[in-house]
Amino acid sequence: MDCLFCRIANKEIPARIVYEDDLMVAFEDVNPQAPVHVLVIPKKHIATSLEITEVDNALIGLMFQTANKIARERGVAGSGFRMVMNCNKDAGQSVFHIHLHVLGGRLFQWPPG
Ligand code: 5GP
Ligand code: ZN
Repeated sequence: MDCLFCRIANKEIPARIVYEDDLMVAFEDVNPQAPVHVLVIPKKHIATSLEITEVDNALIGLMFQTANKIARERGVAGSGFRMVMNCNKDAGQSVFHIHLHVLGGRLFQWPPG
């Protein structure tokens, strides 16, 4: 399957990996939108949030725990950070392998643009 984030998870394409375990990989976004901008992905290919099913419930929980770990390590847990998963075109999803953006280190606006 020709998926950019599967290729990053398989180390076929380089990325600045900041965390990895059996199920997850987290790496620096190549085009950061905040001082902290890390992407957390499951190694399992899931194209969009709409393809998440009951078998993935534990995996999705682990994604959030991984995001929390990164936020704490980067020192933005207390000050605040944003976790974002875009789904499909209007939300701006550009890579069709689910990923949680972990953004922090600056003040964010709400509602988002
Ligand atoms: P989306 O728009 O799908 O929510 O987010 C995709 C994210 O992946 C974007 O923030 C983009 O900068 C990042 N990205 C795209 N290609 C690469 C890449 O090759 N390496 C890394 N590290 N990030 C990428
Ligand atoms: Zn993939």
